[in-house]
Amino acid sequence: MAYMRNKIFEQYQSGARQHRRRRSVKSRRRRRLRALIILAMFLVAALIVGLIAWGLIHLLRNGSGGAVASTAASSATLTATSPAQPDTGQTVPGTGNPYYEPGTPPLINRDNHIPEGYAPELTNVGYGNGREQQMEARAASAYLDMVAAAASDGIGMSPYSGYRSHERQQNNYNAAIQSYLVQGYSQAEAEAQTQLYYAIPGTSEHEAGLAMDIDGTNESFANTPAFQWLRENAAGFGFIMRYGKDDTDITHVAYEPWHWRYVGANHAAEIVRQGITLEEYVAGLAGR
Ligand SMILES: [Zn+2]
Repeated sequence: MAYMRNKIFEQYQSGARQHRRRRSVKSRRRRRLRALIILAMFLVAALIVGLIAWGLIHLLRNGSGGAVASTAASSATLTATSPAQPDTGQTVPGTGNPYYEPGTPPLINRDNHIPEGYAPELTNVGYGNGREQQMEARAASAYLDMVAAAASDGIGMSPYSGYRSHERQQNNYNAAIQSYLVQGYSQAEAEAQTQLYYAIPGTSEHEAGLAMDIDGTNESFANTPAFQWLRENAAGFGFIMRYGKDDTDITHVAYEPWHWRYVGANHAAEIVRQGITLEEYVAGLAGR
């Protein structure tokens, strides 16, 4: 009996244990469920907050993107409506520039003679065409800097004809006329032909020491890397190609891609920017 009671008791005991166990399992499950619900609610809340944040960021980004797009559109309209002149990206050098030249660059052509007896201060710029070539001191300094810059870019160029004295210009001029006369040209024809390439003595930029014929006097110079380099960089050193292909009506000189004239970097930048001849540029300054 005692055994039975014990057994029953035991059963009871175990039943109670089981009951307790069941209850504790149930409450554990409930707690777990509650935790799961809380977790789920937290996740949903986080998801909502995340979605709102993402939406806001997206909205802001779209907003600023629109602003950028409209700025680009308006600047595109500006460039589309305003550029009458090509934008070389160059600014006109100021007085601090080493190649800045104040005032108006001297215009030397058949209508504007060099004053008689004018004797520029000369500087050697290198050997070429059988003798030491020279230029007016400031032009020479700019020329030497330009040649050094070209060399550092792997471009070689040599001075062919810089300063020419009045006598030398006269001799060259007379020799050219003779060569045409020998070919059967009349005196007038020979002079006209000569004057396309040889300035009448007293009207050559070479007599002022302000010009350099680079690498010779051959039109094929226009096809060389040196010419390309000059087209891109010479203005920065104050030089311009003086006698362009389509400028003969204005300059009265044939196309001379080899002839580079020192005017100063400030003037050169403007001349290149406007795409005009020195004749037009000087006339523009006078008319201002
Ligand atoms: Zn020349």
